[in-house]
Amino acid sequence: MLFRSTAVAATVACFLALAGAASAQTTQAELKDRVAAYVQPSNAERTRVAVEQLTAVGFTPAIETFEGGGRNSGPMEGRNVVVLIPGTGGGAGGEILLTAHYDAVKLRDGTMSQGVVDNAGSVVAVIEAARALKANPPAHDVRLILFDQEELGLIGARKWIEAHGITQVAGVLNSDVAAYGDTMMYGQNNGAQSAWVTRAVQETCAARALQCVGYPTYPPSDDRAFSAAGAPVVSLGFQDQVGAHQMWLAFNGGESTGLAEGFVPRVFRTIHSAEDKVEVVEGETIRLTADTYEAVVRAMDAKLTADGK
Ligand SMILES: [Zn+2]
Repeated sequence: MLFRSTAVAATVACFLALAGAASAQTTQAELKDRVAAYVQPSNAERTRVAVEQLTAVGFTPAIETFEGGGRNSGPMEGRNVVVLIPGTGGGAGGEILLTAHYDAVKLRDGTMSQGVVDNAGSVVAVIEAARALKANPPAHDVRLILFDQEELGLIGARKWIEAHGITQVAGVLNSDVAAYGDTMMYGQNNGAQSAWVTRAVQETCAARALQCVGYPTYPPSDDRAFSAAGAPVVSLGFQDQVGAHQMWLAFNGGESTGLAEGFVPRVFRTIHSAEDKVEVVEGETIRLTADTYEAVVRAMDAKLTADGK
């Protein structure tokens, strides 16, 4: 009996320890569930999920509507979802933007893509990073923006810039495609003004011994709306290590990439197709993405502060 009751006590203690850990940090399984919640029949439903998830972790999100729509869709109202995390510096030196698009693409058969790799994984990761930043704020204000209508031509980001300008934008971390793998990708094609943000990324990779791959040519996302307006910005993403290098070759290898003729990297067989589905999402990657983005924002904050901003 003694042995048995000791075992029970140990089990209870173990559960209590686990409960304590869970309240401090969202589990990988919970993060994956949050990504799965974006599998919806419309982008309007995805807006609702984003607002619910932000509210659940203690934010009061604002919805900024805009007149958008693309060439094929015709005029269509869009909704950017925005949260401000006040820094300790009283708003001095402008804001660091943490951004990801939450809209999914419509497939050729007229149904919605599940849009988890592209881009609900990023959305859940930036919300989790924002939660950590709110708990221990950096000097600079951080504005989390979940953009709509990226898939129609970066429209949510362009409309946000149109409405607010970039004079208060100190730097931007954008995330697109982050749901599986352990290798962080970063674009290096956002102009000379973005060099210090790239350095913040590289230093974070070194400090965390994280496998990172820089791309002189990187596929466009909402980052391009900001670099076109002159803002310092980096676009980040995650995938598996082999895939990240295959993608590097596909975009930067020139005439002789060494890839087999007709070869398409996995990520491009996944996004904008029925293969972009919740089964490929890895909770471990969402955790890694959130922690890394939080660290990059803190590195950007430190660079701005060191620069007297
Ligand atoms: Zn995307």
